[in-house]
Amino acid sequence: MKLEIVQTGDPVLRQQGRWLNRADITSPQIKELIELMREAMREAPGVGLAAPQIGESIQLAVIEDRAEYLADLPAEQLAETQRSPVPFHVIINPKLTLVGNSSVEFYEGCLSVEGFMAAVDRALDVRVECLNENGEEVTINAHGWYARILQHEIDHLNGTLYIDRMKTRTFTTAENMFRFRSERK
Ligand code: ZN
Repeated sequence: MKLEIVQTGDPVLRQQGRWLNRADITSPQIKELIELMREAMREAPGVGLAAPQIGESIQLAVIEDRAEYLADLPAEQLAETQRSPVPFHVIINPKLTLVGNSSVEFYEGCLSVEGFMAAVDRALDVRVECLNENGEEVTINAHGWYARILQHEIDHLNGTLYIDRMKTRTFTTAENMFRFRSERK
């Protein structure tokens, strides 16, 4: 079975996801869903996938920024975006806290707004309190690109897309993003 990633305009992307209890989390259905989401995220490929993006209105997302994705990027871009590998993990019922007052603006995209990108200002540091796939309480302190991924995915669980937060005049097709890169700040 292969999961289809829903595109913007589908009402499920605009709903608040349902909170999961421990019995939900350890059920075979959720275990299977996590495996299918991991496959769908890798196949896309993407660095995060939230359950509403595959049509499930629940508070669950998977995240993974693989070393092989970073291998093709210039070192200065990795340094500028403060991006480093993040192992696969699951966040459930996350509570997001922005830490400090520093924010950074970078282009981001979304598997549910396929083919487009825009500049989005995001907090540089966040703390996330959530449950993992075993229903255990976890606190994540994240910085840089990882903090951006968490903010993007947790937005999905609350019916928000990056297009709600973007600098609208930076909105571009992904193709033009790279074509006109030198003219962009
Ligand atoms: Zn997204």
